[in-house]
Amino acid sequence: MKNIAVLGSTGSIGTQTLNIVRRNNDINVVAMSAGKNIDLLEKQIREFKPKLVSVENEKLAKDLRSRIADFDVKVSYGPEGLTEVAVIKESEYLVTAIVGMLGLIPTIEAIKAGKKIALANKETLVTAGHIIMPLARECKTPILPVDSEHSAIFQSLQGYEGNRIDKILLTCSGGPFRGYTSKQLKHVSVKDALKHPNWRMGKKITIDSATMVNKGLEVMEAKWLFDVNVDNVEVLVHPQSILHSAVQFEDGAVIGQLGIPNMELPIQYALYYPERRKAPTGKLDLFKIGQLTFEKPDLKTFYGLRLAYQAMYMGGNAPTIYNAANELAVSMFLNEKIKFVEIPEIIQASIENVTANKALTIDEILGTKNETEEYIRHRWM
Ligand code: NDP
Repeated sequence: MKNIAVLGSTGSIGTQTLNIVRRNNDINVVAMSAGKNIDLLEKQIREFKPKLVSVENEKLAKDLRSRIADFDVKVSYGPEGLTEVAVIKESEYLVTAIVGMLGLIPTIEAIKAGKKIALANKETLVTAGHIIMPLARECKTPILPVDSEHSAIFQSLQGYEGNRIDKILLTCSGGPFRGYTSKQLKHVSVKDALKHPNWRMGKKITIDSATMVNKGLEVMEAKWLFDVNVDNVEVLVHPQSILHSAVQFEDGAVIGQLGIPNMELPIQYALYYPERRKAPTGKLDLFKIGQLTFEKPDLKTFYGLRLAYQAMYMGGNAPTIYNAANELAVSMFLNEKIKFVEIPEIIQASIENVTANKALTIDEILGTKNETEEYIRHRWM
């Protein structure tokens, strides 16, 4: 039996992780966390019988406790609750399916506690890759990518025996606004932006895909996971979302992973690595797909992606500013406080105006997040 803890069990990745648990009979969920969705969490507790759960705040924790009074489960809350879930003694794996920088501290604590990390929460690596990757090496604990692109790269690198990676080919669908002009983007609504052509995901990452900031975050994630320079990460728009990403080696050979767009495959691969289990859903039929196409991204219109490269070249806390500005701008957009086109504007202005520092420590990273949010609130709210 494998014992796992899941941060964000009520979200898109969290619920798909639980589908995998359901389908296989050899995983115990010993702890899980949710934010506000305690209706779903209650159902999950009744089905998976964890020892510990955590929710966003004290009020929700009290409500949940009264609903599950017939169950022997500890209910914690807030950031401390997330860390409790992350380090619970009984678990071997932590699935980081929580969204945003909230995942940072619990992930670090889980690594220190020797948990294997099935990492979906990309914001963690974007802001603290320089802390997390050396820490994971020191604690001899693997970081197993769940993001489909990074899982594809990880799979393509099996057996590569230290050969030099020439290029990482990071694919993306282009999102719902592929081919739009800057003028057309001015008029898109929240509803339009939430209509991803190929993937069903949480709201934040769906908006990130529409702005292509998601690809920017993934370029940074790839840099840390695979120890490459961002200049060696090339983004390809691939509207069919079948080639999930690839690696080009020095001899020109391109090794990639193809599959239907479904997150259960990369989640399952991370949880069972190096074993391959039965396909979680249908299998790819290339005859049905017919053709795979590739385009260069439009970095002028979707300049949120270009800003990610700029932030990485700047180094220090610039990637944290990029990420924190995006997190707040996306929530403002989802609440209809700003327009879609203001998301990259806010990121750019934040990179230009928030105080630069080396962001060597967690305190500096969290300080940068606070300063970025203050800057945006002052200027846009
Ligand atoms: P969702 O929005 O669907 O889920 C987020 C989870 O985090 C939910 O369980 C939510 O709880 C919880 N949460 C949110 N705020 C808080 C809070 N303040 N305190 C505690 N818990 C909180 O996100 P996704 O599953 O789409 O994404 C999760 C991560 O995985 C992101 O970093 C994303 O970039 C990454 N990822 C996602 C992919 C996907 O296909 N969805 C693909 C690749 C990467 P609740 O709903 O109960 O409020």
